[in-house]
Amino acid sequence: MKKHNFYAGPSILPQYTIENTANALHDFAGMGLSLMEISHRSKQFVAVVDEATALFKELLNIPEGYSVIFLGGGASTQFCMVPYNLMKKKAAYLNTGEWSKKAIKEGKFFGEVDVVGSSDDKNFNYIPRGYTIPADADYFHITTNNTIFGTEIREDLNSPVPLVADMSSDIFSRPVDVSKYAIIYGGAQKNLAPAGVTFVIIKNDILGKVDRPIPTMLNYKTHIDKESMFNTPPVVPIFAALQTLKWLKQMGGLAEMEKINIHKAGLLYDEIDRNPLFKATVVAKEDRSLMNVCFVMNEAYADLEKEFVDFATKKGMIGIKGHRSVGGFRASLYNALPQESVEALIAVMQEFEKIKK
Ligand SMILES: *Cc1c(COP(=O)(O)O)cnc(C)c1O
Repeated sequence: MKKHNFYAGPSILPQYTIENTANALHDFAGMGLSLMEISHRSKQFVAVVDEATALFKELLNIPEGYSVIFLGGGASTQFCMVPYNLMKKKAAYLNTGEWSKKAIKEGKFFGEVDVVGSSDDKNFNYIPRGYTIPADADYFHITTNNTIFGTEIREDLNSPVPLVADMSSDIFSRPVDVSKYAIIYGGAQKNLAPAGVTFVIIKNDILGKVDRPIPTMLNYKTHIDKESMFNTPPVVPIFAALQTLKWLKQMGGLAEMEKINIHKAGLLYDEIDRNPLFKATVVAKEDRSLMNVCFVMNEAYADLEKEFVDFATKKGMIGIKGHRSVGGFRASLYNALPQESVEALIAVMQEFEKIKK
């Protein structure tokens, strides 16, 4: 039976990425050696990093004056690297869920954290609006896509202070006006590559403003100066990321991806809104994530939750159980997930409705 991969992360990757990476694990760049056993300083691998950096810049239309680096440590290490490198006294944060909370916790190690808006009061089922960002904050930190709660900030916000965004789970899902951001970072394992590599896009002139000494590995400048080669970078995930970037280009780039993503998510949200058994946890349509669709059973059918997960899993729907802090179901519809998988899930929901209603 065909499996449909709705895992939230690590998650589905393009077949193109998986096949090319599998081949390179046997023979990388015609070297007769595995990608796992070659020097990261070989000219063949340096070419991979260079091409990945160039495609990052091309696909996201990154302006002059920005660097792209590939690091280890996951997005979670960025929660501390950002304040380490940018916070003098105070930073503003928007609290939109678990990942924001973790970023806020790390920020507090370095100075004053001003949480300017929060959707904590409603279990993070909306995006806060109408907050004020203090002009004396060193930066404003947001999580654009809230992987656990299924909300997303799909516009590039205007911020009076440097804007920092965790885009772990929606990078490359839409065009982004990078010029509005000082830093964009993310773990690769949601929409780009296997776990192990973290990308950081940095506006160079944002650095060098804090007085504290910064340990070498946690200093962005170290990695910018050495073009991600200060120490051994995650070789295999970077190679895989390059394949996904090539695939994105073949797909027509990010404007095309956005169209596809709007359409795919629209199909599923329409079914959730129509099907009397289910309801979406995020009510406001403009706040709904295109990447992680969260839904629950309607009250009258609440006791059928586990039965639906089992029913859907038996039919090949993998990874649709919701995160424990939301319950219900979560279908992650990352770039690589084909529309056919969304249609298969909708068919399963309709079949379940026929049995139960
Ligand atoms: C998964 C995720 C993280 C954590 O990433 P790691 O690479 O595991 O540290 C952070 N932020 C968001 C939005 C995520 O989805």
